[in-house]
Parts: sequence; C-alpha cells; structure tokens
Amino acid sequence: MNEFQLIKRFFQQPSLAFSNAYLRQGIGDDCATFNIPSEYDLHLSLDTLVEGVHFPFQANPFDIATRALAVSISDLAAMAAIPVGFTLAITLPSKDETWLKKFSDGLIQAAQFYQCPLIGGDTTKGPSLVISLQVHGITNAGEGLKRSGAQVGDKVYVSGNLGDGAGALPLVLDRPELNTGLARQFYAPLAQIDFGQKIKTYASSCMDISDGLVQDLNHICAASGVGMKIDPALIPMSEELIQTYGKGQALQYALTGGDDYQLAYTANQCQQGIYIGDVVQGQAVKMLGMDMTNTGFQHF
Ligand code: ADP
Ligand code: MG
Repeated sequence: MNEFQLIKRFFQQPSLAFSNAYLRQGIGDDCATFNIPSEYDLHLSLDTLVEGVHFPFQANPFDIATRALAVSISDLAAMAAIPVGFTLAITLPSKDETWLKKFSDGLIQAAQFYQCPLIGGDTTKGPSLVISLQVHGITNAGEGLKRSGAQVGDKVYVSGNLGDGAGALPLVLDRPELNTGLARQFYAPLAQIDFGQKIKTYASSCMDISDGLVQDLNHICAASGVGMKIDPALIPMSEELIQTYGKGQALQYALTGGDDYQLAYTANQCQQGIYIGDVVQGQAVKMLGMDMTNTGFQHF
C-alpha cells in the first residue's frame, strides 16, 4: 500500500469525504474548493494534536479521531458557525492498517455527526504521531460571534457542566483505553454547534472553554475591555465529577482545568445556558471569595 492507496482507502471514503452544497472539489486535486455565496462568511480554525501531549500514547485510534474532530469543531461552535468541511494533516510513524482503520472509523463517526466532511489533507511519515485538522464553517456575513463585544451590565453564561474534561484526564492517563463514564468526556466531548446556533442572535461575545473557565473568560475580558464577577457557587458540575473527586477538587477542575469544550458567552438577556456572573468595569475575572493564581493550561 503506497501513500496514494492509503489516502484512497482510509480517507477518500464516501462516508467520510462526502459532499455538500458548498463544496466544489474535495479530496483528489491540488486544492479543495469551496463555493461560498457572498451572504456568508467562511471561518477557519486549525488545531494540532501531538501524541503524548494532547492524548496519551496507546489511546484507541477511534477515540483519538473523535476527540480531534470534536475539539476542532468546538472553535466553530464558539463563532456560532456551521461546519462545512475539514482538512487533515497526519504524520504517522508507520503504516499500521489496523490503526488506520480504527482512526478513519472514528473520523467517519464524528464527520457524520457534525455533518463535516473530510475535503483534503496531507499524509507524511515521521518519528511520532501528529494530527492537524483545519475546520471550516459558515455564518451569515458579519454574524460570527467574537471574544470582543461583552458590555458592562451583560450577564455571563455557560452552555453546560464544567470540569469533566479535566476530571477525565487523570483517568485516561492512568488507563489510556478507558472510554466510558467520565473518561468519555475526554475522548468524545460534544462540540456545542447547536448551542451556538441558539445564542447567535443575542450573545454579545462568545468563546469555547478549552483551557479552563477563568483563563478563557479572561480572554473575553481582554478582548472586550471589561472585567467579570463570577460566583463559584453557580458553576454547573456533573454529579459524577463531584462524586469522583469531592466538591473542592471538582470546583478546581471546573475553574482552571481544560478540555471542557462548553461555550461561555455574554448577553444582556437570558434564554439559554447557565448564569454564572456579571460583566463589570475592570480588566479581569474575579471569583467571589477566591484568590485565583493558577488560572488554566498553557503550553509554555
Ligand atoms: P499534493 O502533492 O498536490 O500536495 P498529495 O499527493 O499530498 O497532493 O495528496 C493528494 C490528494 O489527497 C489531495 O487532494 C490531498 O488533499 C488529499 N490528501 C492527502 N492526504 C490526505 C489526508 N490525510 N486526508 C485527506 N485528504 C488527503
Ligand atoms: Mg499538488
């Protein structure tokens, strides 16, 4: 099996490389081509996952794939965009067909779920497994949600439970193949595309929570030139997280852990999600009754 046979067999499958209204050319030519009508904006986001950094060695390739696509599509959700296709650059240490079959099966499941086809990519050999995905999504022109735009007086909301992603991490580091219960949150987080669609008309700012609530809300504060007062007692957490770690550690995960992929947004009216605090004058997030020093994940 040479490089082109590999691409054809594992990536150019009809269930993965399917078409849609915007795709003129998918896998097979020098470029993929979108035809985006002028009333839409096209949004792009690129994410790289490195074995041993973003997922454990020995993780199930199916789970690596579902996670890779979900976390990338989460960035589209944060803009309130709808996915239209993704490209995949993959560096593989070997041509392990069993591994590739499981990996492409995982991609198929996620691509079908989010209706986001594989439209092109690059396949290379290298010393360790590295996966880069670029996702593409559309909104009506000018209507993508941004980190800027939060106004003093707005309220702050999140789309769902926080802390599960960080709580799952020690479990999968201990047992990389584990993918049930809390560990499921690590390998198959749900990108909040539907939620983004619900809030897009009234949210003043939005982002996805990938590096920890406090750090990510600070990005909204910086981009919008505001501060926030957040009440830790209002942070939603799953029963499973609290039972596994106790309330204190669970809250720590919810505030500073990463990998949740819920949305945080601001708005001056409440229709969706869970209220956790207010936008105020200032320049950073303050947690009521807490001193935040370690605020979230950073690579460097
Ligand atoms: P080129 O040499 O023109 O860059 P390649 O030979 O690398 O093209 O790839 C051939 C075709 O297969 C292209 O359409 C490319 O987008 C696609 N492709 C290569 N690798 C992947 C991959 N991992 N996933 C999806 N499509 C891929
Ligand atoms: Mg070419």
